Amino acid sequence: MAIVYIGIGSNLGDRRQNILTAMELLSEKVVPEKVSSIYETEPVGYDKQPLFLNLVCKVETELSPQLLLKQLKKIERGMGRKASFRNAPRVIDLDILFYDDIVMESNELTIPHPGLTERAFVLVPLEEIAPGLVHPAKKKMVKQLLLELNSRSGVIKYDGDGKVLHRRRNVSSIR
Ligand code: AMP
Repeated sequence: MAIVYIGIGSNLGDRRQNILTAMELLSEKVVPEKVSSIYETEPVGYDKQPLFLNLVCKVETELSPQLLLKQLKKIERGMGRKASFRNAPRVIDLDILFYDDIVMESNELTIPHPGLTERAFVLVPLEEIAPGLVHPAKKKMVKQLLLELNSRSGVIKYDGDGKVLHRRRNVSSIR
């Protein structure tokens, strides 16, 4: 089985519920192994929009990268995500961050995700669950990439309903 890291984000509607629903739907297709805390994060690229909630999860899957992407898009569509402009607000966003140590680039799929090294909203939750994971193209660990980014600004652990959300290890524990 392949080990895959997936980033999930939402900044429209009930953001936390959207993320939990996406995790639920995802766990019908892949086997969740680890889930980061939820973080509240400032939008990147287009800032006149609500704050995001983001998390990162580690999953195992038999799906190929292409079939996994298809499933992620199906979940996005099923949850009502509309095609819009780049960096627009979204009910749900699911990205493949790493897929084993595959490095690939095609029209529809780039792995590792090209934005991840510049995005604190990905690297902070990723470092929480996989600090020693090595970026297969950059040959650097996640904790090193975060140090080099030199900023965690705009990324704050979210305790939206008063619960402390550290060290969560599975889907049910982030309810
Ligand atoms: P986004 O707006 O972030 O959901 O990205 C939209 C498009 O990015 C999708 O339709 C994918 O074809 C493409 N894409 C390229 N690489 C990836 C990746 N690693 N994970 C998810 N989507 C990707």
